[in-house]
Amino acid sequence: MRIGIDIDEILAASLDAMLDFHNGTYGTNLKQGDIFSYKLWEVWGGSEEEAAQKWHDFYETDHFAGVCPIAGAFAAMTVLKERGHELFAITARPHHIAKKTEDWLDEHFPAVFSGVRFANTYGLNGSKHKKSDLCIELGIATLVEDDPRHATDCASRGGQRHST
Ligand SMILES: [Mg+2]
Repeated sequence: MRIGIDIDEILAASLDAMLDFHNGTYGTNLKQGDIFSYKLWEVWGGSEEEAAQKWHDFYETDHFAGVCPIAGAFAAMTVLKERGHELFAITARPHHIAKKTEDWLDEHFPAVFSGVRFANTYGLNGSKHKKSDLCIELGIATLVEDDPRHATDCASRGGQRHST
């Protein structure tokens, strides 16, 4: 079957790299254990828009270019592939880092994914999509996801099919 795989914190240890960037740029001393919410502006202070801008600034840094894969993720994806599943990366990342994202996947997860879709959930501009819409379009009924906002969105529409 087709399975959707989130990228950040499922395949990519992006939060560690983001915190390195944030600590160096804003003089904080945050660790993973300090992050009590996916709404990072509640942790950092400031507005949701300012948090989105921080992510966009982060995407331009070497911190982002050097994001490490999550330990064991490649082995897990390989098992799913060997069992005959077709994998699609389904990410909230913005469209403008599509090339960087695809290059990173090619480097760390070569020949694993049949495609990548960008929801642009927190993008500063451009069209945004629900992950559930992307999954329905692709006929994906299972999504591996760490963010409860996306997980509940998809779970609430489980079993729906794209109608054309
Ligand atoms: Mg994630």
